Amino acid sequence: MTDNQLLQEYVRMSQTAGARADYVQGGGGNTSVKLSAGCMAVKASGFRLNQIVMDQAYVVVDAKAIREWYASVDVQEDRDFEKESVAVAKDSAVKGFGPQGLRPSVEAGFHAVLGNFVIHTHAVQSNLLCCSTEGETLVRKLFTDAGFPSLWIPYINPGFCLTLKIKAERERMKAETGADPHVIFMENHGVITWGDDADSALQLHDEVNGRIARYFHLTDRFPVPAVKAESDGVYVSDTPAVLAFLKEKGADAAYFEEFPLYPDQLVYLNSSMLGEPSTRKIDLDPATGSIRYKAGESEALAMEETLLGFAWVMENIRKIGLTLKTMTPSDVDFIRNWESEAYRKSLVQKMAR
Ligand SMILES: [Zn+2]
Repeated sequence: MTDNQLLQEYVRMSQTAGARADYVQGGGGNTSVKLSAGCMAVKASGFRLNQIVMDQAYVVVDAKAIREWYASVDVQEDRDFEKESVAVAKDSAVKGFGPQGLRPSVEAGFHAVLGNFVIHTHAVQSNLLCCSTEGETLVRKLFTDAGFPSLWIPYINPGFCLTLKIKAERERMKAETGADPHVIFMENHGVITWGDDADSALQLHDEVNGRIARYFHLTDRFPVPAVKAESDGVYVSDTPAVLAFLKEKGADAAYFEEFPLYPDQLVYLNSSMLGEPSTRKIDLDPATGSIRYKAGESEALAMEETLLGFAWVMENIRKIGLTLKTMTPSDVDFIRNWESEAYRKSLVQKMAR
């Protein structure tokens, strides 16, 4: 296939995965495709998957250069690898090819070390396993032992560390079993599937999440997230499942702080619930079960989607009898101080205006 045909397939794959609120919420999740001459198209930071079209929302990077950098680092050295890895990805953007002036996803690193078509989502079905202490055992039982060689990656800071870990674990599995894992579960984060073409990556992603849902008999339709305008720049939650959850749990900002499930929750929800009432973007009223977003419509909907995903995972982990596994305080601190996440947030705000 030519690069142009590969990019068309990439757009189709991103649009398909990005059309489902149970797979991606707000600006979460990302996709990539390997092109000729060691290049790779990867989602740009701060965009939604379904915004990827031929001339928008992705960046073409030199994936070979990124892989070479990861292969060359010596973690014994006292360097700020986290910061360097972000610069390496950013500097590897190819001039004159694809949309210009955008920044590659902070997760570009692990895309570079995987196969041709890669899908990463925060699918709620996968996150039942990723946010429970039984997850690793279930991944072995439901996938690796059932003919889908899969990796389980214990929680590790996203970015540099996560890329190195995925690369090492994939190589280890190949060496030990001869199987190349095409499914990767990341604790307190989400799932990755990849394949030689767009359809095999998409089908595997559907199969993985469908298998989990069937195993636990969670076959009800996923709720449709919705917000409605209250006044200028103020939207309210209009998703019954979200409002019922809020009321039943009496969930205020402290509740969300108590159960940090994954980084996107901290970046898009918790940080917007804290602080002065005049500056915060999300106002929860668990007594009446109402949620007000002080934001434009697309940003309000992105927050609502993230809230719905969180509520669904919390509710169903309880229902199916798994044991909730949350992020540790130091995991949370890292995310709160991570520049790239702040950058993503600022882009989302810009996108919403
Ligand atoms: Zn992610």
